[in-house]
Amino acid sequence: MQKYIEQLNEAQREPVLQKDGPMIIIAGAGSGKTRVLTIRIAYLMHQGVDPFNILSLTFTNKAAREMKKRISDIVGTSEAKNLWMGTFHSVFARILRSEAEHLGYPSNFTIYDSQDSLRAISGIIKEMQLDRDVYKPKQVLSRISNFKNSLITVKAYFNDPDLQEADAMSKKPRMGEIYQNYVDRCFKSGAMDFDDLLLKTNELLTRFPEVLAKYQNRFRYLLVDEYQDTNHSQYLIVRALSDKFQNICVVGDDAQSIYAFRGANINNILNFQKDYEGVKTFRLEQNYRSTKNIVEAANTIIDKNKVKLDKVVWTANEFGPKIKVHRSITDNEEGRFVAATIWEQKMNHQLHNGAFAILYRTNAQSKAMEDALRKRDIPYRIYGGLSFYQRKEVKDALCYLRLVINPKDEEALIRVINYPARGIGNTTIEKLTIAANHYKRSIFEVMQNIERIDLKLNSGTKQKLLDFVTMIQSFQVINENQDAFYVVEHVAKKTGLIQELKKDATPEGMARIENIEQLLNGVKDFIEGQREVDGARGALSEFMEDVALATDLDKDTSDEDRVALMTIHLAKGLEFPHVFVVGMEEDLFPSAMSMSTRSELEEERRLFYVALTRAEHQAYLTYAQSRYRWGKLTDSEPSRFIEEIDGQYLEYLTPVESNYRYKPMIDSDIFGDVDKSKLRLAKPIGGSPPTPEEPVKPDSSIRKLKPMTGSNPSTGSANLFDNKLVAGNVVMHERFGKGQVINLEGVGADKKAEIKFEVGGLKKLLLRFAKLDII
Ligand code: ATP
Ligand code: MG
Repeated sequence: MQKYIEQLNEAQREPVLQKDGPMIIIAGAGSGKTRVLTIRIAYLMHQGVDPFNILSLTFTNKAAREMKKRISDIVGTSEAKNLWMGTFHSVFARILRSEAEHLGYPSNFTIYDSQDSLRAISGIIKEMQLDRDVYKPKQVLSRISNFKNSLITVKAYFNDPDLQEADAMSKKPRMGEIYQNYVDRCFKSGAMDFDDLLLKTNELLTRFPEVLAKYQNRFRYLLVDEYQDTNHSQYLIVRALSDKFQNICVVGDDAQSIYAFRGANINNILNFQKDYEGVKTFRLEQNYRSTKNIVEAANTIIDKNKVKLDKVVWTANEFGPKIKVHRSITDNEEGRFVAATIWEQKMNHQLHNGAFAILYRTNAQSKAMEDALRKRDIPYRIYGGLSFYQRKEVKDALCYLRLVINPKDEEALIRVINYPARGIGNTTIEKLTIAANHYKRSIFEVMQNIERIDLKLNSGTKQKLLDFVTMIQSFQVINENQDAFYVVEHVAKKTGLIQELKKDATPEGMARIENIEQLLNGVKDFIEGQREVDGARGALSEFMEDVALATDLDKDTSDEDRVALMTIHLAKGLEFPHVFVVGMEEDLFPSAMSMSTRSELEEERRLFYVALTRAEHQAYLTYAQSRYRWGKLTDSEPSRFIEEIDGQYLEYLTPVESNYRYKPMIDSDIFGDVDKSKLRLAKPIGGSPPTPEEPVKPDSSIRKLKPMTGSNPSTGSANLFDNKLVAGNVVMHERFGKGQVINLEGVGADKKAEIKFEVGGLKKLLLRFAKLDII
């Protein structure tokens, strides 16, 4: 037996050795699903399967690259090169390019990112003179996206009275028309949005049996990682392609299904056995990633979910340290705690930055973390958020490049036609848009024919439009013979973009020029990478494809050692020795927007399961008692998820707050099927709450404040100790000086102390904010 197969355990080996037929591997986090897929591909090749016949679909392109690298190590680079691997979007974009003509699209079609789609929708809403407050562009786009992922075309929409009625009920009776206009506009621009890449693939495979047959024959072996997060559209593609040979292997974990909000359908995994005949089901139970403590704690969480497949996850790894729970007063203090802990762990254990990940529920939480890391000079990288390619100056440059490849691209054209300023005003652009809609042509084509169309433009304006057309065409000529780097540099200069940016000598302005430089560096890297791989020319179109389909994780190309910051959604499939899950607060995680039904809450719980199971050695759960949200300081309570973990797996770094009361949802509609007697005021973590009437008693366990020991990285702010304060304590206040606590009142975030200061007399201070030291 090959050595690489010997490295698998028996349960993992079985699905690798099973060459043909439909199979599903359902297993918990860290049990080697992705590893099995990788080894399976290598083994298929060793058994003589042509790499051209293998298609493997992954969650990110980065994951695909890593898999390919491992396979290369086993079977050799030249063989592995021919494997088809990548995300659904990148693989099918490639197929759509070669088959575009079937669908009436040019093969150089543009791929719109969500910003482009949003601009197009906004434009349509404006042209239709609809109220933006009713037809909120983001909502409209998300509704259209849902249609597409459920394969509801415009025609299907107008044939479905229920859908129309639903929109009418939500005061958007013209949704269908917007959908129609958006589809027309994309088509006219030779553009597909992200959802189109799947929708059009489905269209291609259903409308053209010969195309379907071609790809069925090509992809004799299909493998899908993270199958639990496929949506309906992806599901149908997989089904269609695997229908002939039925050599399909999917792996997934129903407990990690976290994309229902984007249309992922957990039933795809639950129903797999019904979809194919003779499905072999494999289960992996041994986790190799995490300590016993983490694995067992994670099991206790997921046990709380009702909808799940029964699964066992265990590990032979050491027990490891308990999960550390930390409370802070504010989100900034939470950031300081995280940064201080990383700093200390690095010092004490000689760890590198890449050993740490900070995971959060929403991107907005990264700021406090970033500030704190920066103060300690700890290098970090943020994944997600506003991507590099969406920064204004970078996107401007990219839009010119998009026009070079596809001048029909309207969103790109509208964005840069008058930037840098060339005297082409909004009225002119509006006239062009109307004419383009009228003639069912692109704006660029209207401009090319501007002498023949009467738009009541003066000759100066017409000349400016023609100059723009000529400029783009001259770039196209250059693009035919030069590599991407040459073209991008040329375009940045000739369009006046760089000169325009240079006018702004402020640090922000300089940073914008640096971003353009970084774009050029990116192009250079890309070309080099291309040459290394298969001697490709490094054409602009290839670079642009890469940019359009890059997932947030894909941009991680440099080897620099940095702490990783990302949302939990992005962290799926990854692993880190030390993981901080921050913002463990009610309304934030679980999110306030995902608590109205049991299934939403269960999805949040699965998300928490994903977060915790990213940790190999040590997990931290942190929460703040107050944080800025939507510009307002908001009080918060610890997440119910902390309490859901069996206490034996937790270690509290901060004293458990005795006064906070954890509010479960007592809305019977939400937990209709739950025993209401259990919905008492849940006990606070680690202790029972005082009854509301009961006065807050002084706590005899309170010791004098002593400096934090070196091993506790908490960052000093004295109001950490608000719960330790008792009447009689002598305290030092940053501004008021020395004083004595006379009385305490209120609970939790509202807790106040009446203090008699030596200078200044009696003052009542909200402990949440007071900067006090007990002396
Ligand atoms: P997730 O559900 O998070 O995607 P997974 O099931 O895909 O996890 P992998 O990422 O494949 O799990 O494996 C988790 C870790 O365990 C990896 O570091 C992998 O290399 C290691 N691992 C898996 N199987 C074995 C094994 N048989 N021997 C040693 N290490 C293993
Ligand atoms: Mg995996």
